Amino acid sequence: MKQQIKKVLIIGGGIGGLSAAIALRKNGLSVTVCESSSSNSLKGAGILQPQNSFGVLKELGIYEQCLNKGFQLNSLKIFDKDGMIISEISERFMDENLPGRNAIWRSELSGILVAKAQSLGVNIEWNKTLKSYTEHEYGVNVTFEDESTLTCDILIGFDGIRSKVRDIMLGRKIHPQFLGMGSWRFPIEFPKSKSFNETLMLHNGSTKIGIVPLSESAGYAFILKPVKIDYWDDKMTRYERVMNIVDQFRGASTLIKEGLSKDSPILFNLVEEVVLEENWYSNRVVIGGDAAHASAPNLAQGAAMAIEDAIVLAEEIDNHDYFYTAFQSYFKRRYYRAQKVQKLSSELIRKELLREEGSEKIIMACHSFLSTAY
Ligand SMILES: Cc1cc2nc3c(=O)[nH]c(=O)nc-3n(C[C@H](O)[C@H](O)[C@H](O)COP(=O)(O)OP(=O)(O)OC[C@H]3O[C@@H](n4cnc5c(N)ncnc54)[C@H](O)[C@@H]3O)c2cc1C
Repeated sequence: MKQQIKKVLIIGGGIGGLSAAIALRKNGLSVTVCESSSSNSLKGAGILQPQNSFGVLKELGIYEQCLNKGFQLNSLKIFDKDGMIISEISERFMDENLPGRNAIWRSELSGILVAKAQSLGVNIEWNKTLKSYTEHEYGVNVTFEDESTLTCDILIGFDGIRSKVRDIMLGRKIHPQFLGMGSWRFPIEFPKSKSFNETLMLHNGSTKIGIVPLSESAGYAFILKPVKIDYWDDKMTRYERVMNIVDQFRGASTLIKEGLSKDSPILFNLVEEVVLEENWYSNRVVIGGDAAHASAPNLAQGAAMAIEDAIVLAEEIDNHDYFYTAFQSYFKRRYYRAQKVQKLSSELIRKELLREEGSEKIIMACHSFLSTAY
């Protein structure tokens, strides 16, 4: 970037925002990240890093650390509700010689990203929630909820599915689209004798349970189940509700019955997506990750797509004389790929809701599509 960009401000210190900070700082830019939460631990259970994300993790310089802190999975095994195996899909869909999908606690991944960003000189400000921004000829003025202000040359929004940067940029509030399912996620412990290194997926009609090991003794599980758009999941009775769902399965579901403690945190959210028809940029402002293309989680590609956005954005900013053409090229390179993954994810949800056959075909189509470089 030959144009005078000195200060970059990133809103959102999640996976995408921290990745963008690392990639831009490596290119010599001064980068501040403002994150509304008060600590560096990403909320949630585990995250699955598929083989197509390994290249971008290497670019960020955190590949080895992610593998060391994570647990590598050879395959995805799909079972019916009685525990009979239906199919097995290899997680080495790009390279037989590389490890399969890496499963890692979100808090571990966050720790790795924060440490890397800070070692490069990225300034991270916690408890900083963007309230509004205004653009002027030479930059962007940002105001936070605590009424403090910052100025920057370009503003990057990696502020998630309910992105404020996106809504201000587009001049309208985007309401994420509900996809008909609810998702529960929670940590579980395994008895040592049950150690395994595959993702286990159990199907019962439109409901499915996933069990993911993150070490030999612990992991996390998730449930995807149809719910109504106005569904409210009461926290006080969540454990009992999860156990009731799990009771309708046999086979590996005993891992949850034995391994979920009453005191474990259980997260619930509605499954939603954001499909934008507009550009992901306007003047000095650009967005990426879930802010631009949040997808249903069932292909586990959201974080990988956010990191790819971050790397490509940094590359294009470095390659162009003007931020505006850099943003255009970034959008052009990313739009189709992110949209394709999003479409496959929502198609998978649709099939599961309608109890149609063919989920495996969609997973394989996604693997095949993502085998080409980003
Ligand atoms: C149930 C579920 C399971 C998933 N499992 C996987 C998986 O296994 N693998 C995978 O690749 N993906 C998975 N995903 C998707 C993945 O979590 C997201 O795609 C990814 O986190 C997107 O990264 P992001 O940085 O764009 O957004 P986020 O991770 O949402 O980060 C946005 C950040 O911005 C902050 N923020 C928001 N508003 C403001 C503001 N106004 N000011 C300052 N900060 C703000 C938030 O606090 C947050 O830290 C899953 C998603 C869900 C819902």
